[in-house]
Amino acid sequence: MIIRQLTRRTLRSPLECGSQLAALKALTGAARPNSDMAEFREVFSKAKHIAIITGAGVSAESGLPTFRAASGHWRRWKTQDLATAQEFSRNPSRVWEFYHYWRELALKATPSEAHRAIAECEARLSKQGRSMVVITQNTDELHRRAGSKHVLEVHGNLFKTRCLSCGDVDDNHHSPICAALQGKGDPDPKCSDADIPVRDLPRCDEGGCDGLLRPDVIWFGETLDSHVLTKVEKELDACDLCLLVGTASVVFPAALFAPQVASRGVPVAEFNIRPRASTSRYKYHFQGPCASTLPIALARHQSEVI
Ligand SMILES: [Zn+2]
Repeated sequence: MIIRQLTRRTLRSPLECGSQLAALKALTGAARPNSDMAEFREVFSKAKHIAIITGAGVSAESGLPTFRAASGHWRRWKTQDLATAQEFSRNPSRVWEFYHYWRELALKATPSEAHRAIAECEARLSKQGRSMVVITQNTDELHRRAGSKHVLEVHGNLFKTRCLSCGDVDDNHHSPICAALQGKGDPDPKCSDADIPVRDLPRCDEGGCDGLLRPDVIWFGETLDSHVLTKVEKELDACDLCLLVGTASVVFPAALFAPQVASRGVPVAEFNIRPRASTSRYKYHFQGPCASTLPIALARHQSEVI
């Protein structure tokens, strides 16, 4: 399976990722995109196993920045350059300031109409013996906070920490995560680094370990969790309808999930603010803010029995 061959999280320009693009093209046909919502709703009403792949666009409507947008900077740095193990090793204070900023934003954010529509749909379908899984690249927990139960977080979770010494992974919703980060993380390019000593950054409290903690997210260049990927593959193989929501499909291997489903002849519906190069490969495309389009797409169908 193609995803198994590409388990490392990467963000590359099309010129650099020729083999991945070739794989993506090989996986998909040249379907003509269709924006017929009534037709999509008929397909939706008959689907038994629905996979929804989500990206930053869903959370953008909750006020969280999409860090890979044109303005994808925090202070003077590209956010993808901060999200690496190398940068954390070089400057853990700066990287923790960035993640502290992001955690605090996510804690204050409320789920969008798109998050809520997905969660409500899952609850309704489960009563009908139908299933829905959310496969998300987002780390902000907003799907869970909206009420989604079946969520696979392929890039980890902002509200989990991992100890670099003992490996312990723990939930952590503290605000701030440590006293030294209180009031830090201002994204303004004119703001200086806080240069917090490593001993004052988040530390492990497991059995007196006191090791340095890192966010339990998948950084660029790191391999995705194999247990999560196995579950994702199972869901992609089983689904009979796939929705691709609010993602630019530029981060691998997640960019291959929907093409893999389409290659089986299963309908894929893309919901995005604007068409992408890959849009023509999917059966349906609905343009616009997903907080507007998804609630219509996932509303109860007249044929559904509750
Ligand atoms: Zn530890």
